[in-house]
Amino acid sequence: MTAVNLGLPARPAGSNALGAPGASAPSTAGRPDVPGLVDRFGRVARDLRVSVTEKCSLRCTYCMPAEGLPSIPREQLLTAAEIGRLVGIGARDLGITEVRFTGGEPLMRADLAEIVGLSADAAPGVDLSITTNGIGLDHRIRSLVDAGLTRVNVSLDTVDRAHFASLTRRDRLPAVLAGIRAAHDAGLTPLKVNAVLMRETLAGAPDLLAWAIENDCRLRFIEQMPLDADHNWARDNMVPAAELLDVLGTRFTLIEKGRDDPSAPAEEWFVNGGPATVGIIASVTRSFCSACDRTRITAEGTVRSCLFGDQETDLRGLLRGGADDSEIARWWRGAMWNKQAGHGIDSATFAPPQRSMGAIGG
Ligand code: SAM
Ligand code: SF4
Repeated sequence: MTAVNLGLPARPAGSNALGAPGASAPSTAGRPDVPGLVDRFGRVARDLRVSVTEKCSLRCTYCMPAEGLPSIPREQLLTAAEIGRLVGIGARDLGITEVRFTGGEPLMRADLAEIVGLSADAAPGVDLSITTNGIGLDHRIRSLVDAGLTRVNVSLDTVDRAHFASLTRRDRLPAVLAGIRAAHDAGLTPLKVNAVLMRETLAGAPDLLAWAIENDCRLRFIEQMPLDADHNWARDNMVPAAELLDVLGTRFTLIEKGRDDPSAPAEEWFVNGGPATVGIIASVTRSFCSACDRTRITAEGTVRSCLFGDQETDLRGLLRGGADDSEIARWWRGAMWNKQAGHGIDSATFAPPQRSMGAIGG
């Protein structure tokens, strides 16, 4: 019998994390005395991803195991107030300019609007968005926008109902489309739609692009990364950006436009002369690690400097232990100073991280 990898650290959450009582702050030897989240390779993190839950309404094969991730006990999750406080520290003291709530599925948190509202109060003027599978968004969009949400990215890999059901292990395509329509009606346009490139759905990629253009969505394809809980990813089987371009080229004329800004992960192409575009995030075959500007907080309150780096720094222990904002900022800076150079997927010694995408927060 093969062991099932649940996508969580082999040790109990937090046991490999710095920041627990008595632990020492990450080394900052050689770090310049600047407020921002700089690292040894000259990068500055300004884009914060906050995972708010490990729970999800889908079971995408490239992300979750069929049974879902093991539940995180409620007391181990950051509260809405703790998230709001960290977002405030990030914006005020560390130069964070954008915050995206993710998971798991952020809509699984009943207090998501409270999280957004407290974050908006703590970080006025900062762009607050969610990455969501869209299920239930139609019922929640109004309260989220009222709380201060400024943008929504919806993940949708195919508009073929049978393919959707087999890829996500749930027959919920109509619910996702209802969520997209609601976000559109709430004025969150142009809506970004993200699709992970998979062999099973590659032939349907032109249909998805046609649907996106027709529905005023900005579609971006993402190369599949070795972040699935089942550890089935294989370099030889993943769909590279170049292959997608060939498939889209059978129906559309694509002209390279480039990146919207140098740290944007997506390279854009004009479709049929524009103005419609399609983006490709070639995380594996055209890695953009050298321009990465992300910092991540997991649902349990650890800083993760890279999707692929298992070293985490626990801020929840500091928050609950009475640390002041400057102390928390100091630990966060230390965590980011030690960010690794890149994901190293092509190195002979590469091993996928212990946590899967859904357990980190994509
Ligand atoms: N549940 C939400 C959703 O699906 O949008 C938010 C969390 S999900 C982990 C965030 C993003 O990560 C989604 O766009 C998803 O498609 C992407 N993702 C998940 N696993 C991935 C993988 N192995 N490689 C590349 N992208 C992945
Ligand atoms: Fe859930 Fe998002 Fe992972 Fe799909 S990609 S299983 S929707 S967390």
